[in-house]
Amino acid sequence: MATPQPLQLLAPVSGVLMALDRVPDPVFSGRVIGDGLCIDPTSSTLCAPLAGVVSNVQASGHAVSITDEHGVQVLMHIGLDTVNLAGHGFTRLVEEGQQVAAGQALIEFDADYVARHARSLLTLMLVVSGEPFVWLVAPSGRVESGQPLLELNAAPGLSEEAGATQGQAVFSPSLTLPNRNGLHARPAAVFAQAAKAFSATIHLHKQQAQANAKSLVAIMALQTAFGDSLQLSAVGDDAQAAIDTLARLLAEGCGETVAAPAAVAVVASEPLTLLRGVCASPGSALGNVVQISEPDFDINEFGADADREREALANALIEADLALQHLHDTAAGEAEAQIFKAHQQLLEDPGLLDQAAALIDTGKSAAFAWRAATENTAAMFRQLGSALLAERAADLTDVGQRVLKRLLGIDEQTLDLPEGSILIADQLTPSQTARIDTARVLGFATVGGGATSHVAILARACGLPSICGVPVQMLALSNGTQVLLDADKGELRVQPDAAAIQQWQARHAQQRQREVFEQEHAALAACTRDGHHIEVSANVASLAETEQAMAMGGAGVGLLRSEFLYLGRNHAPSHDEQVATYSAIARCVGPAHNLVVRTLDVGGDKPLAYVPMESESNPFLGLRGIRLCLERPQLLREQLRAMLGCCALTRLHIMLPMVTQVAELRLARQMLEEEALALGLSERPKLGIMIEVPAAALMADLFAPLVDFFSIGTNDLTQYTLAMDRDHPRLASQADSFHPSVLRLIATTVKAAHAHGKWVGVCGAMASERLAVPLLLGLGVDELSVSVPMIASVKATVRESALADCQVIARQVLGLESAGQVREALQLFHEANVETLQVMEN
Ligand code: PEP
Ligand code: MG
Repeated sequence: MATPQPLQLLAPVSGVLMALDRVPDPVFSGRVIGDGLCIDPTSSTLCAPLAGVVSNVQASGHAVSITDEHGVQVLMHIGLDTVNLAGHGFTRLVEEGQQVAAGQALIEFDADYVARHARSLLTLMLVVSGEPFVWLVAPSGRVESGQPLLELNAAPGLSEEAGATQGQAVFSPSLTLPNRNGLHARPAAVFAQAAKAFSATIHLHKQQAQANAKSLVAIMALQTAFGDSLQLSAVGDDAQAAIDTLARLLAEGCGETVAAPAAVAVVASEPLTLLRGVCASPGSALGNVVQISEPDFDINEFGADADREREALANALIEADLALQHLHDTAAGEAEAQIFKAHQQLLEDPGLLDQAAALIDTGKSAAFAWRAATENTAAMFRQLGSALLAERAADLTDVGQRVLKRLLGIDEQTLDLPEGSILIADQLTPSQTARIDTARVLGFATVGGGATSHVAILARACGLPSICGVPVQMLALSNGTQVLLDADKGELRVQPDAAAIQQWQARHAQQRQREVFEQEHAALAACTRDGHHIEVSANVASLAETEQAMAMGGAGVGLLRSEFLYLGRNHAPSHDEQVATYSAIARCVGPAHNLVVRTLDVGGDKPLAYVPMESESNPFLGLRGIRLCLERPQLLREQLRAMLGCCALTRLHIMLPMVTQVAELRLARQMLEEEALALGLSERPKLGIMIEVPAAALMADLFAPLVDFFSIGTNDLTQYTLAMDRDHPRLASQADSFHPSVLRLIATTVKAAHAHGKWVGVCGAMASERLAVPLLLGLGVDELSVSVPMIASVKATVRESALADCQVIARQVLGLESAGQVREALQLFHEANVETLQVMEN
């Protein structure tokens, strides 16, 4: 069906026209989404450029698309990177599915706010369905909202719909979507563009829903997610070629790097023997598969009357809040309690509540409105491309389901699990995890999630081994299948043979025996066989963890990650709250031990809702840690002031993260001095820096005279030295802190510090690895700050070592080629040491 007469597109806002090529975003300037125009707006209401149906309006209100009766789709996008404003500054005036007239107001925006908080206010109007157009005005200069700007010709992209319906439909096999964030704008644009190369009519199917494969907007509206099962259909002359090409493109990630191309093909027919993931919680277990999934609910779209639906939602929110309060109060530890507190805060989130209320006002049922609000927001989080926000999307989905169940009168049932269960799931939610009977569950393995996800935190808190990022084929394993979960190696072995089971059992029994022995001796000092003493302290992020650390033999706190006070809330912690928290922790550590409090280490990868930041294409190289704090000096000053409040209670050490420049240290020291003077303090806390950027390690000789101590953050030092993202699932095995380059930087740092009489700690995860202990001792490190459960084991390893031997092995491995070689050498050293110990005992 061709457009019967030329269609004119009106200016959606008043402003100044600008060539699309000049838009500083390659997705727009490269016309990946579609051709069109850009306006630098002078008005603040976005109006419809054509009559049609609102086919998509982003929950955050920054983008909207209209589709007319002939299939012409036009996308309007206000500003660049405005999705990061999470709805602030935008008021949506229309809903998805609503018919609008040309010129009708769609979105109001606060131009001043958007201009100040987003990368740009430039507003795009793009013909995403691909029809060619001619300009009705000169493509530059001032235009008024509602003025005709473009005229669309009869559309090749449209005529195929009618023409190609002849012939047999061809279907692809089922495909599993490998893209971590589903088909969000970029992969969807790549896919739609590839589909447009074929004359066939092509559809992408997800369960009962389908989308025109040539329409970016329709694909995005499908709201696909990682692991979704999709199918393609095509009708027309080149249908088979289209299916072959597009199925391959989907399997390969549509231009995005995906975990394992092999894992995305049609459901595997070969038996699975070994699946690999990433360790989320250490340990190992032999058990049987129990597949866990959340059911889909049948929901009526339309409600009775708005008042009753509003009341139903309000009641469901109260009930959900009470249930979460109960989970919070009965949580096993602080980390778990914090997660449910964060869920309670989501129940009050004005953004979610407003979205749901607006939908109820249009006649939708409370359940429909709540589900739409939570799912849209979760989808937006996933599309932001941040692993951390994607994990927060999982929390949102969890809260969404909890309230939905209340609305639908479905009880939260305790999972009835057989003993020895190993839970397998696409994604486990914190609510599911909290309902698990830990006497029956031995571990988890999930497709989604990450080592920083809430489920990983819960798994660690319960001491259950867990891996994540496992290929989706795992979901095809039958319930009851025997599996060997080795989280330390990031492996799930399916139906292990008798030899593998025997080997594991022997290793497991030995480990258990050793753990018991280590716990019994946890209070002994960490002193090597040849009399060298080092401090083994703890990495903590709460008072509860500090209490555990002190009870389990920790010699104080080597790293208090203060972020826990700031994340997951919509306002900064007050001075009093900060003082109370630091003081409680300081009292617990006491005056005889060190408490090393790290100043706020957030930034692009861990954004704070109340510290708006521009989006960064590479947040790990952006405004992180001390850089952010020096940009927001008030935030840092308030934190320093609060920390100074507990000076008298403990041996307070303040530590600055991500320091790269000597000037950063000087500025922070000056602020600390000013705050201490203002408080009239006569004593000063110690001030040190983290060495986690190669620049700081290489210039340690210049930093050393200016600090009281160094603590090496091997997690970041490794990612920056090796140029490998620390959370990259496929680089996880290579991004190894045992790489000789990282070891040389540690050696450089220690040498410089000792030359100035300063001490050096290691607080990265490397310090918690037993294999690393002799190496770090040999390199001259003075303190190891480790995860709480590892305190006893690291102390025992120190006691079994001789410093002189450690120095020899440390010198040797510095000359090796790879992390693998270093690990091998250390393993041999360990075995030789065990033999020496046996000889000594006999
Ligand atoms: C590190 O980078 O090693 C470190 C301890 O800091 P974090 O893991 O909190 O970034
Ligand atoms: Mg770090």
